[in-house]
Amino acid sequence: MDIKQLLQEIENKNAGQTEFLQALKEVFESLEPVIKRHPEYEKANILERIAEPERVIMFRIPWMDDNGDIKVNRGFRIEFNGAIGPYKGGLRFHPSVNLGILKFLGFEQIFKNSLTGLPMGGGKGGSDFDPKGKSDNEVMRFCQSFMSELYRHIGPNTDVPAGDIGVGGREIGFLYGQYKKITNRFESILTGKGRNWGGSLARPEATGYGCVYFTEEMLKTKGESFQGKRVTISGSGNVAQFATQKAMELGAKVISLSDSNGSIYIPDGITKENWEFIMELKNLKRGRINECSEKFPCEYHEGIHPWGFECDIALPCATQNELNGNEAKKLIDNGVIAVAEGANMPSTPEAADLFIANGILFGPGKAANAGGVAVSGLEMCQNHIGLSWSFKEVDEKLHGIMVNIHENALKTSEKYGSPGNLIVGANIAGFLKVANSMLDQGII
Ligand code: GLU
Repeated sequence: MDIKQLLQEIENKNAGQTEFLQALKEVFESLEPVIKRHPEYEKANILERIAEPERVIMFRIPWMDDNGDIKVNRGFRIEFNGAIGPYKGGLRFHPSVNLGILKFLGFEQIFKNSLTGLPMGGGKGGSDFDPKGKSDNEVMRFCQSFMSELYRHIGPNTDVPAGDIGVGGREIGFLYGQYKKITNRFESILTGKGRNWGGSLARPEATGYGCVYFTEEMLKTKGESFQGKRVTISGSGNVAQFATQKAMELGAKVISLSDSNGSIYIPDGITKENWEFIMELKNLKRGRINECSEKFPCEYHEGIHPWGFECDIALPCATQNELNGNEAKKLIDNGVIAVAEGANMPSTPEAADLFIANGILFGPGKAANAGGVAVSGLEMCQNHIGLSWSFKEVDEKLHGIMVNIHENALKTSEKYGSPGNLIVGANIAGFLKVANSMLDQGII
């Protein structure tokens, strides 16, 4: 099979879906040795089938703001691949959301979920609604309107959304309340729920902790650890917050965090008190990261990413394509030893290539940020058996899953001729399980 030609055909069909085409190209190119070794995938036309979502739902979300004006947003749910389990993946509320971005996220989710070892298919959804600057009541009315359409497409064994950028505990609460009101059913149709109503302990921590556990495994292969390392982290939302906490716990100095306006820089490392202030600032006051410089000594750099600060480890935890080739060069020149993606596809292809070419330990998002959805899978499991596990139990399971993902990606990279390249290893390992399930199930 000519993968280049196939990519060209898919590009023609999906013109303008830049992020989706970027994610697809990365996966398909790394699958070349698999397709050569296993002609059955080509025969069953698996690649062309896997590139096409099983279902795309797009809908109108009318809602009323606090002034009584009627607003309209666009809602989506992409049910990308259900070969290994119910569709699973977050909802993103951000003005940048469009079909191409959600298709990229849904596509990544197929392989990420497969890597967790849990029975979850790939899905993603969201809206171009911007929660920034909206009142709690506006967010509630928006979420209720969103669920008034979404409820008919989801179910505990069909499709189970969760949070992503712009969707946290508050939004999941409003969405869940509306689902229950419409259907009169209390069931596991969302994850990231509150702990009093079916949520799992350690779900808020899971993506950030998981990313650090994954990085620890990468570091171990070089006889290294987090102890005494300088870590630069982008973002200051859920993933960044708990990556910071865990890295600090393991003895690292977290020297920066950021938001879409700029970065803070604390050469001596964030303290526990600083971290608590940031948690309140971001989760309750919903303020901006520059407010830190009014509260404790730190430099604030307006309009820049935190990749120029000298560090040993970089954890991009904000959003897609936030770390480009020039920034990767800067990190490499400054002596970075490991980069792990807490966000989905934060490194551009040029940046990822540079990290691999320079022998930097590189954990791609599909593997390094799978901890969030993994604990979502554990939340579903607890809901199904009607039990609630302790924080320690969930955290230990999460740790075990991240260790397995690393081992699986590493071994697969060796088996398919790119030893140590975890992009190749994660893509192939994630793909094999889904592709074989598709083969087992016939022409679906
Ligand atoms: N949005 C997260 C992700 O990108 C979590 C999805 C989930 O928990 O279903 O994996």
